[in-house]
Amino acid sequence: MEPTFSPPLHRQRHQFVIDFVKRNKPKKVVDLGCSECSLLKQLKFHREIELLVGVDIDGAKVKKKMHGLAPMSTDYLQPRDDQLLIEMYQGSVTQRDARLRGFDLATSIELIEHLTLADVERFSEVVFGYMTPAAVIVSTPNSEFNPLFPRLAGFRHSDHKFEWTRAEFKSWALKVCEDHGYEVEFTGVGRAPPGQQERVGFCSQIGVFHRLGGGEVCNLLFCDDADDVFSYTLLYSKNYPSLHDNNVLRRVLVMEVLYWAEQLRRRWVEEETGQRDDADTPRPAEGDGEEYHRASEQHLEMEEQTAAACGAAMKNLVEHQDVEAGELFWTDGQEQQESRRCVSVPLSVLWSRFPKVAALSGSLSNLRRLLMDHPDVKLSQDGSAVLLNYQEQASYSMNLITEEEEEDRGDLEDSGYAEASQCSHSVEPEEDWDADV
Ligand code: SAM
Repeated sequence: MEPTFSPPLHRQRHQFVIDFVKRNKPKKVVDLGCSECSLLKQLKFHREIELLVGVDIDGAKVKKKMHGLAPMSTDYLQPRDDQLLIEMYQGSVTQRDARLRGFDLATSIELIEHLTLADVERFSEVVFGYMTPAAVIVSTPNSEFNPLFPRLAGFRHSDHKFEWTRAEFKSWALKVCEDHGYEVEFTGVGRAPPGQQERVGFCSQIGVFHRLGGGEVCNLLFCDDADDVFSYTLLYSKNYPSLHDNNVLRRVLVMEVLYWAEQLRRRWVEEETGQRDDADTPRPAEGDGEEYHRASEQHLEMEEQTAAACGAAMKNLVEHQDVEAGELFWTDGQEQQESRRCVSVPLSVLWSRFPKVAALSGSLSNLRRLLMDHPDVKLSQDGSAVLLNYQEQASYSMNLITEEEEEDRGDLEDSGYAEASQCSHSVEPEEDWDADV
C-alpha cells in the first residue's frame, strides 16, 4: 500500500522551517524558489523576523500570490515592536545579487532537483560562497523512498532533473561544507512505514547547514564592493507598521491611554453612583447560542483583568485625591449639569499603573509630549491629566478588537495552508503528486 502522510508532506517541510525559526529566531530570512509564497505567508507571523525575502525564477508565480503578504488590519491595530520589510524578487539562484547577502537563514525547499547538475554547482557557489547565510535549510526528494510508491515511474515531477539517494545528497552537502566553511546535519520529513525507516530514510531529505566562524566570514566577504551586483528584479516591497514609526507609536499609545482612562472613568462613575454601567457587555442575539457564551466568557475574563488593573489604579487615584482632590473629579463649575462634568485621570496614574502605557511612552514627560495636541485626547490645562466627560459612552474596546483580529489571523494562517495545497494542486498534476507525498 502506498504510504500517505499526515499532515501532507509539503506542510511537514514548511513546518520543519517554522520550527527552526521558532528555535533560532533569525531576523533576516530568504526563501529561494519560493513559488507562490506559501512558506513566506506563514513566516511573516514570526515577529522576530525583520526582513523576509522571496526569490523565484518564475515571476508570474510570485506575482499571483504576493499581495497576500500585505499587512492585515490586525498588523495596524497591534503593530510589531520591530520593523518587518517583505521583498519579493524575480531571479535565479544561479546568479548573484548583493541584496541577498548577510541573511541569518536561507531556505531552499524542493528547489535543487529542478536545476541541472551544472546549475547545482552554481547554486552552491552563489548561496554558500557569495550569500553566506548563517544557516541554510535544503530539502530535496530522497530517491531511496521512491520504490514505496508502486505507481511511480521515473522522477516524482516532470521538471526534476535528478533525484538523489541519501549518499548522493550527503556527498554534495559535505563538499559544499568543505568548499565554503559550513557544517551540516542530515534529517528529513515524511517517515517510512514501520520497520522501513532505516532502510529507505525520509521521503524528503533535509540538510541543515550552519556557517562556521560566525560573523567574521561574512564581514570579510562584504568588504569586497566590487561584487555588488543587482541581477534580480524587485517585484514587491512592503514595510509593516511597527512601533519604530513615530506616527504608529503615537496612535497605539493614544488608543491604550484612552482605553484605560475610559475604564477608570467607568469605575469611578460606578463607585460614585453605586450603579453598574454595562454598556460594553455583549448581549445574545437570537440564535447566537454557543458563540455568545464564548464571547461572554472572554468578556468576563477581560473584565476581571481590567478590574484588577483598574482596582490598583483606583487605589492610586484615591491616594492622589487626598493630595489634589480638585484634580481628580473636575466639575467645570457646573455641578448641577452632569453632562458638563469631567473625570480627570492623572497621567502619572496611567503611566505608573498600566505597563503598556509606560513601555510605549518610556517616561512620564514623554507620555505628556506624545499626547499633547493629539486631536482625540483632551488634556487638563497643565497637561498632567486626561479629561473625559463624566457621561462619556465611547467604548475603547481594544481587547475585543484584538481577539477578533487574532481569530482572523488564525483563519489567514489556515488559508495559507489551504493555498499551499491548492497551489500545488493547480499548477500541474505532477506538482500535485509532489506536494501530497
Ligand atoms: N519552495 C516551494 C515550496 O516549498 O512550496 C516550492 C518549490 S517548487 C517545487 C520549485 C520552485 O523553484 C518553482 O517555483 C520554480 O519556479 C523555482 N525555480 C526553479 N529554478 C529556479 C532558479 N534557477 N532560481 C530560482 N527559482 C527557481
